[in-house]
Parts: sequence; structure tokens; C-alpha cells
Amino acid sequence: MAGDAERDAAEAVAGGLRAHVRGTVRTGEPLAGHTTLRIGGPAALFVVAADEADVAATLGWARASGRPLRILGLGSNLLCPDEGFDGLILDLSAACGGVRWEGDRVEAGAGVHLARLLQEAARRGLSGLEGVAGVPGTVGGALAMNAGTAAGDFGAVVESVRAMAPDGTAETIPAAQMGFRYRGSRIADEGLVALGAVLRLRPANPEDVRRDLAGRAVRRRRTQPTHLPSAGSIWRNPPGDFAGRLIEACGCKGLRRGDAEVSPQHANFIVNLGRATAADVLGLMAAVRSRVEAHSGVRLHPELRWLLGQEQLEALLEQGGPPA
Ligand SMILES: Cc1cc2nc3c(=O)[nH]c(=O)nc-3n(C[C@H](O)[C@H](O)[C@H](O)COP(=O)(O)OP(=O)(O)OC[C@H]3O[C@@H](n4cnc5c(N)ncnc54)[C@H](O)[C@@H]3O)c2cc1C
Repeated sequence: MAGDAERDAAEAVAGGLRAHVRGTVRTGEPLAGHTTLRIGGPAALFVVAADEADVAATLGWARASGRPLRILGLGSNLLCPDEGFDGLILDLSAACGGVRWEGDRVEAGAGVHLARLLQEAARRGLSGLEGVAGVPGTVGGALAMNAGTAAGDFGAVVESVRAMAPDGTAETIPAAQMGFRYRGSRIADEGLVALGAVLRLRPANPEDVRRDLAGRAVRRRRTQPTHLPSAGSIWRNPPGDFAGRLIEACGCKGLRRGDAEVSPQHANFIVNLGRATAADVLGLMAAVRSRVEAHSGVRLHPELRWLLGQEQLEALLEQGGPPA
């Protein structure tokens, strides 16, 4: 628990930031409530930007004050440290929450939930988003990760992306220059903030689109532990194979560290059985990776994003998880 002096200092810093932004600034915001794994300690500063100008102002303030900043979508691919984050979390749900439909095109803000987009696309009889059906993220997260499935990637329906550089300048980037690839894009590579995207969908029969989405939801519930907190696939699929198959083949289904468990239903998912910590998840990931490597010779690489960066995640996995 933070002491009074620490709380006063945090409030003073937040006061300085509030003078620069119109949105809300909270201190000590528990990150567990903002991730689908339900794990993570408090963020020193949590900003819900009111508009694009606020996003630029927050980036500028973070840069000038030397505080690390991370963008949060729905937290559905994110593991946050138990100790929390001594930096600034930027939430775009209010600043970039708009959707504008025009024929088969839609302009969607980065904070918009994919589920909302899919539902409205089906109502309007527009197909093309099947690849992200059931992916519980935002448009911004889907742009950063190029979310998708065997049915297609999000990048395939993107016409252009509006993005902001760390210096606060915004530009529109055509899809061809976005570097979309398997679970990656320029957004993550260059530390850009995705503000929104224009998508081009295809006219279809609304009933067909609805039936297709319902079928995909049923298949997900059958094959994935959608009833428990998770972050989706933990590992990227290696070329020509599936991480889940490799993990299952070396007997890791059901393996546990604390309350973190390799899902008996889908080996590439780690579920939180109640009180799992980030340390549990990291320890379990390290154990799974070394067993898979010993069994098949294949080294798995994380798809899950660690709030403090993928380089640090690699280092933590290398040492078998965080020090006790
Ligand atoms: C049950 C379940 C099933 C899943 N199934 C799939 C699946 O089938 N396919 C798939 O691809 N993924 C899947 N996922 C993972 C996850 O939903 C996707 O990666 C999703 O795109 C993450 O979006 P998010 O908004 O939650 O991003 P977050 O988890 O909040 O963030 C992920 C990364 O994107 C960055 N980011 C988020 N928004 C922005 C922005 N506006 N600008 C810049 N960077 C940003 C964050 O900083 C972070 O590095 C699944 C997850 C769960 C829990």
C-alpha cells in the first residue's frame, strides 16, 4: 500500500498533467480491472483522453517528464506486472470511440470494440470482418496486432489508418504502407498511436453474415476456454505448425503455477483460475517453452504483450520467470 507521502506525491504529479489535458487523470488505477487476464498492479497515472488534442498533449507531457507511456485497448492481449506500472497508461475509448458508416465503408475510432463493429456490420449486411469474429479487442489493438484467424486478418479490410507519432503529429497511412503481417504492423514496430481506421467491407445478405458469425461463436466456445479469464493465444504459431499442438504433444495441458493453468481445452491458452499473478503466468510460460523446446526442438515466441516490453519479457522467460 502506498503511504500518505507517496500518495500526495502521485497526486501532485497528476495535478501537473491535469493542467495539460481535458480528459480524466486517475492515480493508482489497478490494471487487473483493465485486462482480460484480470492480472496487474496499479498504474501510477491513468489517463482517459477526451479527444485527439488530449492524446497529443498526453504524449508531449510524458515525453517532457520522462515517464514511460503505454496505450491500452481492451487489455485482451496484455500481461501487466504484479508490482504495477510507474508510468502513464493512455486509454483511447473516449477520444477515439466514434463510428461512421458510409455504404460499404466504415470509419472506426481506435477505441471501438470489435464486437460492436461486427454486430453493426451484420445488421447492415456487410461481410469481411469474419477473421476477427470473437476477438475481444478494440480497433486500435487489432491494428497494432493485426488480429485475425485462419479466416483472415484485420489488415485485409483496412483501407487506411490514422496514426499519431510520439511527437504528436497525426497522419493518414494507406494500408499498403502499414506493414501488416502475422500478428504485427507498423503501429507496434514504430510505437505509433493508432487513432482509427477506414475499413472497406463487402455487401452481403445480413442473415448469412449473422449465421456465419453465430457459427464462429459456437466453434470458439467449443474449442476455447471463453468462460475463464485469459489473454487468448500466448504463443505465436511457428512457421508450418501450431503452438497449441506442440504444447499438447509434450503433455503440458493442465500444467499449473499457482492459479495460472495451461488450459486443458486449448493448450495455447493460459487461464486464470482465480488468483493467478503475473509471476505465475511468466513462470508457467517459461516452463512450457522449455518443455516444448526439449520435446520438439522448436522455440516458441510470445504473442502475448508484456506491458514493460517484449525484450524484457524474453529476458524474464530466459531466467525462468521473475525472481522470487
Ligand atoms: C478469449 C480470447 C480470444 C482471442 N482470440 C484471438 C484471435 O482469434 N486472434 C487474435 O489475433 N487475437 C486473439 N486474442 C487476442 C486479442 O484479443 C487481440 O490481440 C486483440 O487485437 C487485442 O486488442 P486489445 O484492444 O485488447 O489490445 P490490448 O491488449 O489492450 O493491447 C495489445 C497491444 O496493442 C497495443 N495497442 C492497443 N491499442 C493501441 C492503439 N490504439 N495504438 C497503438 N497501440 C495499441 C497495446 O499497447 C499492446 O501492445 C484473443 C484474446 C482472448 C482473451
